Amino acid sequence: MNYRVVIGMEAHVQLKTASKMFCRCPVQFGAPPNTLVCPVCLGMPGSLPVPNRDAMIMALALAKAMGSKLAELTKFDRKNYYYPDLPKGYQISQYDRPLALGGGLEIVTKDGVKTIRLIRLHIEEDVGKNLHDDATGTSQVDFNRAGTPLVEVVSEPDIASAAEARAYLTGLRTLVQYLGISDGNMQEGNLRCEPNINLHIDTDNGVVKTPITEVKNVNSIRNVERAIHCEVERQLAQFKELGAAIQDLPRSTYGFDDTRDTTFEMRSKEEAHDYRYFPEPDIPPIHVSSPWREEAAAMVPELPWEKRERFVKEHGLKPYHSDALCRSRTTAEYYEHAVQAGAPAKAAANWLLDELLRHANEKRVGVEELGISPGRFAEFVKLVDAQTVARAAAAREVLPRMLESDASAANIVAELGLEQVDDSAQIREAAQKALEQNPKAAAEYREGKDKAIGSLMGFVMRETKGKANPKVVREVLRELIGQ
Ligand code: ZN
Ligand code: MN
Repeated sequence: MNYRVVIGMEAHVQLKTASKMFCRCPVQFGAPPNTLVCPVCLGMPGSLPVPNRDAMIMALALAKAMGSKLAELTKFDRKNYYYPDLPKGYQISQYDRPLALGGGLEIVTKDGVKTIRLIRLHIEEDVGKNLHDDATGTSQVDFNRAGTPLVEVVSEPDIASAAEARAYLTGLRTLVQYLGISDGNMQEGNLRCEPNINLHIDTDNGVVKTPITEVKNVNSIRNVERAIHCEVERQLAQFKELGAAIQDLPRSTYGFDDTRDTTFEMRSKEEAHDYRYFPEPDIPPIHVSSPWREEAAAMVPELPWEKRERFVKEHGLKPYHSDALCRSRTTAEYYEHAVQAGAPAKAAANWLLDELLRHANEKRVGVEELGISPGRFAEFVKLVDAQTVARAAAAREVLPRMLESDASAANIVAELGLEQVDDSAQIREAAQKALEQNPKAAAEYREGKDKAIGSLMGFVMRETKGKANPKVVREVLRELIGQ
């Protein structure tokens, strides 16, 4: 069966402002329940919301970075629905005059580069949090989070696989971190996303489109991928059962259960008209002034994809490697400082991605927090590149020591006696011995069996306690056999 997976993503980014979107309560995680509240965020009658200027600028910076068209005039609307975590009975959001329209985010997957277009970007306030206690069968509400500023980024349905969804969300997270407007941490809820998924299935009677399902409350990028896989399977199975009649089913909202690795139906999906949107009467429409635009523009640093391109162009890195480096601004800057300190670019990128990141992940810190300065790291890479020390010994012995002490790579190599032996007299002696004591391998090698050199080289390495420079060993063996 031929089919296409079609995914649009709604992502909510929590902004790192000092105070909430429409009141002065602080934005803070982990305070005792209902201590960070006031009449405005509790929705008391007569209280008046005032938009947070910083949040507006941060959201404009994000829109600008993604090439969206900023609105001249923007306004807030009430999205009406009742839920215990929303005491006002409505959420202040934006309906027909969002902050920005269009734009896109470029993603890199193993298959190449692709742009995911955006529909819109708007500001809204977060709701409170329901806490359910199974033991007592009671529920409580914490309103500390109510009124926290969010930017909702809505993509076109351009995402065609779970891998692309991962790349998109990773890219968005990287971007908000570069801009410094959000931590973008999904586990902590700073980045929440809802994929809208359906399939376009080729049949003899044309394309059948399965009803779109929106998956709510997915709390990690890994779970987004799993939820997409589940939905694809489920929708395929349903199509096999119902055929083209599947198109008559309504859109619906699903949840993802990560312990059972399955999606489950929650309710049929609300349409915009269910919310009875109307203009927020307490906040006049806002003119997006040029000082605001300038301030937002000034917040935009060299962007992740610009850095990625530059490293490809200036340093000759592969796009996929460059992308991996640029996923974190601090990692990319660390790499660049090492290159400025004289490290050969490709080798520095490889060591960083293979070894430093592994150590950093184990310790749950950033590469820059490992305690090895970019200068020290550059010196290490140069040492290995010059073949002063073998790669394996460098990874196994030198780097771990550098993590524990302030010693330079050169000092550690000297202290542990790890210098590679380039001295061809010593190597020649060992090679001569290898040929004499392994006549069979020597004969095979003379007959042109290239593989035989492996055992000869192994002998020389053992003889020199692993310190011989393999390149020199190979040359010397060739030369001796040629004689
Ligand atoms: Zn408040
Ligand atoms: Mn929303």
